[in-house]
Amino acid sequence: MIPYARQSIDDADVEAVVRVLRSDFLTQGPVVPRFEACVADYCGARHGVAVSNATAALHLSAAALSLGPGGLLWTSPVSFVASANCALYCGADVDFVDIDERTYNLDIGALREKLREADARGRLPDVIVMVDFAGQPCDYAALAGLKKQYGFHVIQDASHAIGASHAGTRIGSGTCADVTVFSFHPVKIITTAEGGMAVTNDDALAETLRLLRSHGVTRDPQLMTRGREPWEYEQIALGFNYRLTEIQAALGLEQMRRIDAFVERRRALAARYDAAFEATPVQTPYEAPYARSSYHLYAVQVDARKDVYVSLRERGIAPNVHYMPIYRQPFYEALGFREGYCPRAEAYYARALSLPMFPELTDSQQDAVIAAVLNATEIRA
Ligand SMILES: *Cc1c(COP(=O)(O)O)cnc(C)c1O
Repeated sequence: MIPYARQSIDDADVEAVVRVLRSDFLTQGPVVPRFEACVADYCGARHGVAVSNATAALHLSAAALSLGPGGLLWTSPVSFVASANCALYCGADVDFVDIDERTYNLDIGALREKLREADARGRLPDVIVMVDFAGQPCDYAALAGLKKQYGFHVIQDASHAIGASHAGTRIGSGTCADVTVFSFHPVKIITTAEGGMAVTNDDALAETLRLLRSHGVTRDPQLMTRGREPWEYEQIALGFNYRLTEIQAALGLEQMRRIDAFVERRRALAARYDAAFEATPVQTPYEAPYARSSYHLYAVQVDARKDVYVSLRERGIAPNVHYMPIYRQPFYEALGFREGYCPRAEAYYARALSLPMFPELTDSQQDAVIAAVLNATEIRA
């Protein structure tokens, strides 16, 4: 089976992991801070806070921005459930803003309208989670005016988008959001098996993220209220154990050496798909003028999606679908959300198909995928 996504692991990755296994520290050693500095430098951010996965990074970011009971978080329905769940972890409410029908990212026009109505009703969102779907950055220039006007915080869920750029600036540099979150799950751009990171230019926010990552416990004399003895630590907030291990950080550091090559290969594959599907019934993804996508996903729109999906599976190709609108999940429907809430997200989902997209996909494998897709779509045409 050709999968829709897959990690790329080489001998240097294996050796880096083995080196840590033979070292003094398996967790809370010197490699995690080196990985944090490497990712932060790459993005042009002041701070990187490595955590156990991007879901944890979203949770801590929302908590560090003071989201709590009575609070409200908005996000895009076309995302992984974690983009919304972080609100509920904090005891806050969640709501959804429909997508732009070309980029499939949260639509700034719809956001403007919803903010106006929310303002009139007297309940504005505290946090908006912007999701850079498939690796394409959202329209952050248009968002900036609304952020200023209404004063909400922005968490950038860039789980798909490390290595992407917005208006010529790398994602994570702090021009788009208060905090940017990356995922290092094996299907994403680089991997640490499980893993994630929050990057920010805000010193106080970074300190809170670090504190909450490790139980709310500190040994920093500046933060301690009573500790005087050399062995003492203090818990000063209710945190979690969301730490990344040294083993994972070593893998991440090695992967960072190849990140630009990974993104270049993904973009080359996207260009080949674009060319192959031109003037066919397969609707290819649109890249906005301000965006340089990292192409975590290559998400097309096709009619009779199920037939195409089944036909590809029969030919040894495993496509995927990203995403059912989050509010259509049974858990969210039980909170009161109903079909029809975000019509553009639902129309997108009805025809969505993610084709194989990963650095080690060969040209000849991709040609087989293209032939299979064209065959499946043309049978019906
Ligand atoms: C993968 C993903 C996450 C969660 O990442 P984990 O590292 O698996 O927790 C969150 N948001 C989006 C958009 C994702 O694709």
